[in-house]
Amino acid sequence: MPRKIDRRWFSLLVAAVVAVALVPVFAVQDERPTRRPQPNGQPRFERAPDTQPAGPTRVLILTGQNNHDWERTTPLIIGILEDAGDRFDIDTSTSPAGGADDAGWADWRPRFSDYDVVVSDYNGQMWPAEVRDAFEAYIDGGGKALILHAANNAFTGWTEYEQMVGLLWRNADFGDRLYVDAEGDIVRVEPGQGPGAGHGPQYDWPITHREDHPIFEGLPTTWMHARDELYHGQRGPAEDMTLLATAYSTTGGTGVHEPMIWTIPYGDGTVMTFLPGHLWRGQRETDAFRCVGYRTLLQRSCEWLATGEVTVPVPDDFPTAEERSVVPE
Ligand code: ZN
Repeated sequence: MPRKIDRRWFSLLVAAVVAVALVPVFAVQDERPTRRPQPNGQPRFERAPDTQPAGPTRVLILTGQNNHDWERTTPLIIGILEDAGDRFDIDTSTSPAGGADDAGWADWRPRFSDYDVVVSDYNGQMWPAEVRDAFEAYIDGGGKALILHAANNAFTGWTEYEQMVGLLWRNADFGDRLYVDAEGDIVRVEPGQGPGAGHGPQYDWPITHREDHPIFEGLPTTWMHARDELYHGQRGPAEDMTLLATAYSTTGGTGVHEPMIWTIPYGDGTVMTFLPGHLWRGQRETDAFRCVGYRTLLQRSCEWLATGEVTVPVPDDFPTAEERSVVPE
């Protein structure tokens, strides 16, 4: 009997030591997003990832429905991440085919919490409530998501998703629009004013980064992105956005710098939206996915979301402000 009592006291002692040791951990986790003013006085929100997973970053790519050619884009995205050495362990979760009924969706339950980063290449039917709830809980609990191109078209009416993505492919009445003017200031446009979502023909266009962010370390301020669709007039709540990069919209566009890459904190998590990356069904050219700038930024964004650091080097053939650079087909 005395041995049992000894063990119980020993357990209590261990618990007390652990509790004291954990105090600073919880104190750090309680920190709220930092704010510092942007040049135009608008608030700037940032949430640096606070975890350093051991081993390769675990990435889950969501696909299976998209008005774009997801059967080609998803393998292209996987290939780009695999080109970053051994940094990423990549799984793919393919949803039921378009038009699936409730029974068809019953078994599709991606295990978001098994991953450091969830990449969405999905633009299709609304997910079941259980999957939406799981995705919200994953991000709220510190998960990271990367929303690619038409994935920002998805899920009209899923207000939490629209909050996380901030600017989406919606009509002009849906929400605010942001652009950057010639002075580099962010301009916020009211719903109903100016254009809604659209794009001109595909061409080569320069991307400019707007923040000293780890994903841009060592890169030129502006580089030529290879032939792609340039989204303009994206709409949404656009709250707590850190606007990372823009593109000047000319041909068939708006004549201003349109948001291209941004982050939004959601709970303890972070959602990054990344608008380049168009590939239509039947389209032959894959220039956007072969662009060295796109490839580098995709790798670096996944790494930063997962670890808060960027170790992916700047390739020697990174595009310049004047000249595009693509890897061979
Ligand atoms: Zn597109």
